[in-house]
Amino acid sequence: MAKCAFCDANFETGPGDVLLICPYCGTAQTTEGIKFKDHYMIRVHFDQHQAQTTLLDWVSKQLGAPQDLPVAAQFIEYQQVWYPFWISRVDARTDYHGMGRDANFYNEWPQRPGAYKRIDFFWKPESGQFTRRHEINIAGVKDIDSDIRNHPIPTRAKEYFSHAHAEEFDGKVLHSNISEEQARVTARQIAFDRQTRLVLQEVSKIESRNDDIDVGETYLVHVPVWELAYRYGNKKYKASVSAPTGYVIESQYPRSMSFRAGGIGIGLIMLLLGIGLILIAFNIFDLRALLSGLTLGPDTLVGGGAVSGGLLSILGLILIYKAASGKEAKEKV
Ligand SMILES: [Zn+2]
Repeated sequence: MAKCAFCDANFETGPGDVLLICPYCGTAQTTEGIKFKDHYMIRVHFDQHQAQTTLLDWVSKQLGAPQDLPVAAQFIEYQQVWYPFWISRVDARTDYHGMGRDANFYNEWPQRPGAYKRIDFFWKPESGQFTRRHEINIAGVKDIDSDIRNHPIPTRAKEYFSHAHAEEFDGKVLHSNISEEQARVTARQIAFDRQTRLVLQEVSKIESRNDDIDVGETYLVHVPVWELAYRYGNKKYKASVSAPTGYVIESQYPRSMSFRAGGIGIGLIMLLLGIGLILIAFNIFDLRALLSGLTLGPDTLVGGGAVSGGLLSILGLILIYKAASGKEAKEKV
């Protein structure tokens, strides 16, 4: 429990929450009651009904989705959850010295331009500089679905956090368990790692480097996500949809009976063929001996037959499993 330093209300907090959002007045504050001013949000553009329609429209275009899904699906859970993200602008400049790989080419083949009889590789000292501005995005809650953590956030559309706007949709605004200071330290490290990757594209070994990393504007932005669940037939499927953009972050969806039946059928045929191949390979079920009445010596095909039979059986089992299970899907970025 915490007490709001601005409206005196008591409210719930979880373990590890360090930047709190009062659910009554919306003020962002530290656990010591110091107001945090750089608090933004991304506005909702898809209300509950639009998010559901967008989701069903998208899901019904997925391979194997049942045709009656948009009319037969019944939404049973819907909550708008506002996830906190720390966004830092980091200006980084890295001067580096290192060793790069280079090569000398000798004696081009006359008939094959671009092909050489001898290539000598050698190390060559190289130096350079990278100056970049990075926008670093760190989820403010550690316990977050990885698809929600990585979904695109339109930070250019940010505006000051409005408690009234979140309340309009009964949004659940999550506290952050990362402080501004921790976010800045992490942003610096992430920017340093990105600079390292840039340098390693130019040189294989870094001999020395000098980094000037400036963590600039750092703010907290709350991003609303619709967390939905719908029933189709007698099963329940979960999905999350971005409330600002309508982007389908992730979604489970049913496969139609005919799609499943087809998948299971093909899977079964593959499984039976695979088992047949294994049996033949090990002479357990010797077709040729049966047909010709001859006894055959050691068979060189045993290995190949057993391997391809095994692979076919495994593929068949995978296909049966995939056809029988609900599928997880997400929108491509
Ligand atoms: Zn308050």
